Amino acid sequence: MKEVKGKHIVVIGAARSGVAAAILLKRKGADVFVSDFGAISESSKEKLAAASINFEENGHTALAEAGEFAAVSPGVPTESPIVQHYLNSGKEVFSEIEVASWYTNHDIIAITGSNGKTTVTTWLTHIWETADADYSLAGNIGYAFSERVEDAKGTHILEVSSFQLDHIKDFKPTISVLLNITPDHLNRYGNSFEAYAASKFRITENQTAKNWFIFNYDDPMIKKHVEELQMKESFPQLWGFSNKNEVPEGAFIRNEQIIFRFNNKEETLMPVYELGLRGQHNLQNGLAAALAARAAEIKNETIRESLKTFTGVEHRLEIARVVDGVKYINDSKATNVNAVWFALDSFNVPLTLILGGRDKGNDYSELIGQIKEKVHTIIAIGESKDRVQAQLENVAPHFETAETMRDAVRLAKKGAKRGEVVLLSPACSSFDMFDDYEHRGRVFKEEVNKL
Ligand code: ADP
Repeated sequence: MKEVKGKHIVVIGAARSGVAAAILLKRKGADVFVSDFGAISESSKEKLAAASINFEENGHTALAEAGEFAAVSPGVPTESPIVQHYLNSGKEVFSEIEVASWYTNHDIIAITGSNGKTTVTTWLTHIWETADADYSLAGNIGYAFSERVEDAKGTHILEVSSFQLDHIKDFKPTISVLLNITPDHLNRYGNSFEAYAASKFRITENQTAKNWFIFNYDDPMIKKHVEELQMKESFPQLWGFSNKNEVPEGAFIRNEQIIFRFNNKEETLMPVYELGLRGQHNLQNGLAAALAARAAEIKNETIRESLKTFTGVEHRLEIARVVDGVKYINDSKATNVNAVWFALDSFNVPLTLILGGRDKGNDYSELIGQIKEKVHTIIAIGESKDRVQAQLENVAPHFETAETMRDAVRLAKKGAKRGEVVLLSPACSSFDMFDDYEHRGRVFKEEVNKL
């Protein structure tokens, strides 16, 4: 923890978490200044003014460079000149979760990974509710850690992005969860997969033998990291989860049952089919959530109950409606190819797939196997429709393009038969046509409701 009283601290980035960090630091006696490269929203300005915090917007002046150290919002890239200025002058730069973590003694469960963070984080809150235990939800999921850290009564359940981990120092989760690492956001890591993975591994950096690291046992990058961890003098208890292999310590599947194994003792938790969510990825998510709950000493009985009764999160393989025997599924949050792969993997009926949007350099060919097996119609939307067409036009029997979500949904209806699924799983971000993925998902559901 850093003593901040009387120190001059600059907060870079005035979105939700930056503003929350500024207010927290101010409350702790720091002299805080906020600087944003772009425009600051009216609501942020009001909050800063109410806390008597000075700020500047639309660019960083010398004032932004004058901090003894800087706290950065996750939206601010490490390569930005202002962050580089601090690092090059030997001054420290902390992320918002690092700053917030200075002000709590409660346990922290931190969940990271390329895909599944929100699902597992929300699943954990469901387990804590079922257990009637106190928790405080924060992080990437929409509530800044700094905003909630001091009011928390129980365990902090924290969704953590790799950007937040880039600038930690003492951040030490009691239980850390790493779900998977697949290429995403590489533009923020000099296009280096290794650099992106390394930032995710930092979640274990300060953990000791009294803590837990819950990890995807089948992910080769993560396995390598676990081997390296074991060489350290002090490292957390290593609990793996796998839907394919039996793990030495953690959770796995045998004869369609979920099994826990700790200290060479096995416990049968429940049959796989009782899980509330479908798909192999959700089995992995459920195993991860179950282990985190177990590490926090929640009873198996409660874990079992919560794994059964969780109904999922909006926009993640969410059933929008069934029309004429066709299920319409909203997976608008699938903003990368890997998420679409798992979405396709969750179904064993003929599919119509709606995809496209703003493309981050996607390689759609990873989907070819799944598409050949079960997709009869691809409907491409958004900016990337030509790229999708170039890569996937001849992979499925039918390929169409649509200008609007309304047209896409109507086209899908024409080709889909009773018992089939129409899946919106775009593999792209939404900003070409919509405000965000939630807006895209809502428009999809509205159009489905009009059928
Ligand atoms: P995140 O918060 O990491 O973006 P979400 O839980 O919001 O993850 O899910 C994002 C997308 O990834 C959804 O389309 C979802 O169906 C898919 N997904 C969820 N869990 C996994 C997983 N373990 N592996 C791969 N894809 C997943």
